[in-house]
Amino acid sequence: DIDPLNTLAIEIAAAREARIVPLAPGLADSWFENDGQLTKAEIRALTLAALAPRAGELLWDIGLGAGSVGIEWCLRHPRNRCIGIEERPERAERARRNARELGATALDIRVGRAPDALADLPAPDAVFIGGGASEPGVFDAAWAALKPGGRLVLNAVTLETETLLGTLYARHGGAMRRLAVSRLEAVGGMHGWRAAMPVTQWMVTK
Ligand code: SAH
Repeated sequence: DIDPLNTLAIEIAAAREARIVPLAPGLADSWFENDGQLTKAEIRALTLAALAPRAGELLWDIGLGAGSVGIEWCLRHPRNRCIGIEERPERAERARRNARELGATALDIRVGRAPDALADLPAPDAVFIGGGASEPGVFDAAWAALKPGGRLVLNAVTLETETLLGTLYARHGGAMRRLAVSRLEAVGGMHGWRAAMPVTQWMVTK
């Protein structure tokens, strides 16, 4: 219990509540309000590493979801910016709340469906495709807009998107990796490994 006149105690309590954003990406999933459609912390950390943000760069986060990738991009540097494209308005609204909560004011959210919603956006330095990859024209539009030297990262969870990645890899090269994460969870009174769906990640520089 805090004595309301004891300001030191109040400050200590506030500091305990305060969340300090660490310098490295890969915030715990609990930092983001989400409906299950979230790039999980370990995968997100590697996704950010592959996107390789530099100061002042612009990211397109296609299939914004809860916004975790775009938000973590913005948090890397005060001048970093992100345009997030999400077709479902309630998810876009959730991403907006997450961005506000975490201080990612440079996340610019567009409600719409890729590829149509990509027309006329400013050219990005990096593109993350976390949703909509199987939609015809999404990769082509993103690739055409990407600045020379820019990075594109595509995460696939389904066989259909992975098949598309095989075609794109054959055409454009780059690097491909498969990420499989298990976390320890309680099983009755003991513990066991809970495996998340593996993610196939393709990264390519234009
Ligand atoms: N990286 C996000 C999770 C992405 S889930 C995060 O960590 O929060 C994929 C999202 O892509 C879903 O919210 C889905 O609604 C969206 N999506 C799928 N196809 C799309 C399209 N063609 N245009 C825009 N958004 C799309």
